Amino acid sequence: MNTPLSALSPFDHQPRTRIVFGVGAVERTGELARETGLKKVLVVTDPGIVAAGHAQRVCQSLDRAGVAAVLFDRVRENPATEDVDQCRAAAREAGIDGFVGLGGGSSLDTAKGCNFLLTNGGRMRDYWGVGKAARPMLPLLAIPTTAGTGSECQSFALIADAVTRQKMACGDPKAAARAAILDPALTLSQPPRVAACTGIDALSHALETAVCTRRNALSLACSREAFRLCLRALPRVLEKGDDLEARGGMLLGAAFGGLAIENSMLGAAHAAANPLTARFHLLHGQAVGMMLPAVIRFNAADPQTALLYDELSGLDAFALAARVEWLLNRAGMPRSLADCAVESSSIASLSAEAARQWTAGFNPRPVGEKDFVQLYEAAFQPRGPGLA
Ligand SMILES: [Zn+2]
Repeated sequence: MNTPLSALSPFDHQPRTRIVFGVGAVERTGELARETGLKKVLVVTDPGIVAAGHAQRVCQSLDRAGVAAVLFDRVRENPATEDVDQCRAAAREAGIDGFVGLGGGSSLDTAKGCNFLLTNGGRMRDYWGVGKAARPMLPLLAIPTTAGTGSECQSFALIADAVTRQKMACGDPKAAARAAILDPALTLSQPPRVAACTGIDALSHALETAVCTRRNALSLACSREAFRLCLRALPRVLEKGDDLEARGGMLLGAAFGGLAIENSMLGAAHAAANPLTARFHLLHGQAVGMMLPAVIRFNAADPQTALLYDELSGLDAFALAARVEWLLNRAGMPRSLADCAVESSSIASLSAEAARQWTAGFNPRPVGEKDFVQLYEAAFQPRGPGLA
């Protein structure tokens, strides 16, 4: 059997995000904001990024370019609707004409979510899905300080419902950043655990986009480069946090992963991870990493998908799953759901929720509630060092 070329799979790609990459690129924030026509922006970030000095550098660059900046530094991890509401209140009071999202995926998602509400009104729930914003949105400059979500290169905001904690993927081409400023030096401040979790997430984006049913020639080009960069750079980043070249590799890998998501979709690992985050508060990258090897083995039962994994990695699917296990162990991730305070008695309800996730519908091998039971059971098996 030949590997599918995916050469008849349709795509429609309009480049929306200018990508500016380089050490020191953050100093160009002001110039890029001015070129975009901005006069007053809301800098959306979190207290850790302020403490690291990144917010100050961004504000100084904006100031040099004559662009006024108002700081909103109350972003929280896994932002929920109440976080976006707070951000909207700040944006409204400040009277801004644009956003700078500075930080991890949570900061970029909060800025995007706020942009929906500020310009189009209503509640976050109104934008759950794709293309629900009728009116234009304000320009956003995205400056990631982690290498993971690739949010800077895609048009989705992931916002949790404040009551149910269900993650709502709200996507619209107008929500995509006008420019992504990728400065590897900004990612040096990531604590090792954050670098590990976000790095595993980036790798999972490469792997899921490369095989899911929405893959196409363009997304595959992005998935392959994202995979190549993440696989080589992540062990180096884990080994030596100040390896700037490896940090650059991860930042690019995450951005290419974001472009791959924008042009393709995710799959069962993300579908299974979301309920773990919502109910047991696992970090996103940790939850995805926990499920990924089991999902690769599950998908490999479909011969065409097995070939796609082989083409992506040069490894057969089982060697690829073992390689991912090795990386997870190397990253010091907990290796069984039992170690993450997840009750095995919750497998049935987790599986029902996973099967309802949007991304489950794009998995290359059809995956239903019963399959998720198997996948969660596999993730309860301990796979520590030497066991992978
Ligand atoms: Zn992810």
